[in-house]
Amino acid sequence: MEIYKLVFSPIDVNTYILADQTGECAIIDCGCYDREEFQQLEKLISSKNLKPVLLLNTHCHLDHIFGNRFMLERYNLRTLSNELEEGNRKNAAQHAMLFGLTMENPPEPAGFIKHNQIIKFGNTELKALDVPGHTAGSLAFYSEINGCVFTGDALFAGSIGRTDLPGGNYETLISNIKNNLFSLPPETVVYSGHGNETTIEREMKSNPFFS
Ligand SMILES: [Zn+2]
Repeated sequence: MEIYKLVFSPIDVNTYILADQTGECAIIDCGCYDREEFQQLEKLISSKNLKPVLLLNTHCHLDHIFGNRFMLERYNLRTLSNELEEGNRKNAAQHAMLFGLTMENPPEPAGFIKHNQIIKFGNTELKALDVPGHTAGSLAFYSEINGCVFTGDALFAGSIGRTDLPGGNYETLISNIKNNLFSLPPETVVYSGHGNETTIEREMKSNPFFS
């Protein structure tokens, strides 16, 4: 599987494009914010001859869903997310105004996913893992065969997501990271919602929230 990363919006969110040998691709947290960024994503997809078939959200904070309307209008794709994120999705446009940003109301999701559910694109399977605590319905997406996990804003290189926003809870976040992420093989590569990639082993050993 190829993993492409684009960093979008004034909030610098990581958007991941996962493509396997079938040419189908999944997009995790489509954060493209304006026309220039829509074109950047479109260009990557067309230059690699990819067919977007799956849109996923780790959670529905505004920066992670800026591009969801574009994905619907350009590729006829709606997102899959945890039902507990519906409040964040519905409040996103209003929340954007607090940041001095504008966005239309994000489209209705295609459906809801939960812990341990398998989601497929091409020949690739991703498993949803519960990691609430940054938000009430945060999910990570794990590919066992590719040895990687997409953790949204739950776990970062050297840090964890903030827990002071609605639905956040510090103890919940810590225990979910320990139970559902630190139980993965130590060499698993962690792709976060912001910043650089890391590994499960490195975070278990050196993340200040756990050492
Ligand atoms: Zn967030």
